[in-house]
Amino acid sequence: MFNIHIPQAKNKYEFDELLKVFLKSDEYRLMGSEEEIGTDDSENTNGRDDVIFVPVFTEISTDSGKKEKEIKNQIKRFLYKELQHITGETPDWGILTGVRPVKLAGELLQREGSAEKARKLLIEEYYLTREKAQLLMDIVAYQSRLLQISPREAVGLYIGIPFCPTRCVYCSFPSNQGKAEHIAAYLEALHREISYVSERMKQKGWYPESVYIGGGTPTTLTERQLDGLLKHVTEAFDLSHLREFTVEAGRPDTITAGKLEAIKKYNVQRISINPQSMKVQTLDRIGRAHRPEDIVEAFRLARAAGIPMINTDVIAGLPGEDVEDFVDTLEQVLALEPENITVHTLALKRASRLKEIDSEFNYKQGKRVRAMLARAKEMLDCAGYEPYYLYRQKQMTGNFENVGYAKGDTAGIYNIRIMEEAQTIIALGAGGITKVFYPEENRLERIPNVSNFEIYIERLEEMLQRKEENL
Ligand code: SF4
Repeated sequence: MFNIHIPQAKNKYEFDELLKVFLKSDEYRLMGSEEEIGTDDSENTNGRDDVIFVPVFTEISTDSGKKEKEIKNQIKRFLYKELQHITGETPDWGILTGVRPVKLAGELLQREGSAEKARKLLIEEYYLTREKAQLLMDIVAYQSRLLQISPREAVGLYIGIPFCPTRCVYCSFPSNQGKAEHIAAYLEALHREISYVSERMKQKGWYPESVYIGGGTPTTLTERQLDGLLKHVTEAFDLSHLREFTVEAGRPDTITAGKLEAIKKYNVQRISINPQSMKVQTLDRIGRAHRPEDIVEAFRLARAAGIPMINTDVIAGLPGEDVEDFVDTLEQVLALEPENITVHTLALKRASRLKEIDSEFNYKQGKRVRAMLARAKEMLDCAGYEPYYLYRQKQMTGNFENVGYAKGDTAGIYNIRIMEEAQTIIALGAGGITKVFYPEENRLERIPNVSNFEIYIERLEEMLQRKEENL
């Protein structure tokens, strides 16, 4: 057991994510500014605990915000070096534990004025590997080629359908296996929120740059319900500036020719068809009811319906899979020629069933996932895909990343904007978190909807009131 004492830590849990990359959760104990170092002989085979004492660092900056960040980074660098020495591990993302490393790379580029200098800082001050630093700089370059700064009036719209046919074993989203009457009641409330938000946006002179219908699985809706939802969205908002309209179809077992027809009718250009894995045993293990052939068939239907852009999600690190299984999935996916491929790393949050079954699963899978992600990068580079957005999550296997790849200029604008945090995103439906961007202060203000869909229906007036007061 390591007792790690950080006397300057105001919130010791900020360092937990970094420690978890090196050590299992029962191998260390964190102590902040208030705590004394204790030892517990029973927990160490040597008869005593090991102590890592982080020194007190001097503040250089005069700006209090920067001061805090500098000290945090110094503490992280110290811990990284110590633990690298003890464990022999060299994590790819160095001391970075945040969700948006691309944002940091963009800020460094702006500050330093050259990609080379920014890349160097990522390696020397944040301890990223050369590959990850280069990946970030490539993504920053792609994004600045594709997108300008968003005008204030242009917003992203997110509409959530929190229902799925079954629940995946790794799921931590608000996904419900709702009965028909529940879904109908939910849609009634959602339609009211759409009407309200469209009016509010018109009053403010705002318009959607992108519309993203996500979930859950929006194609869990019946053909009629989906048609009704798309019709309402199309009529309610001023779509004259719209650059992107997405419906996450996701589960192939929910996709029908009729739903694709509705999607096409309302000019949705992007859908996703997500295999996650093309291995039957894995699909069974993770609680997905579809087969690999269903993915192929969903692609055929979508192409026949004339959907121009398809994204497919795959996951590295699924239980029971080795590198060959993952490569085989990628080969099968590449043969379908989707415009975008998103390579996720399995993230197990507390709300997932798999986390309940094996609490150390993330920690154990690290090395295998590293090899899977490296193969994915190689194969996708080779097939002409470029990485265009990246984000990380807490509790991610091996502390890795999710990367969206695109062929040509087919990158998903909404995906980039949500990670950039420089545009207002209005989220409708249960679990939606609206983020209003204030450019003068470079600040986001959050307006959350409740995540339970039944409570959302019950308390819809309150959700609308929150938007009334804060939008
Ligand atoms: S499809 Fe997505 S939202 Fe639905 S259960 Fe699976 S992980 Fe959760």
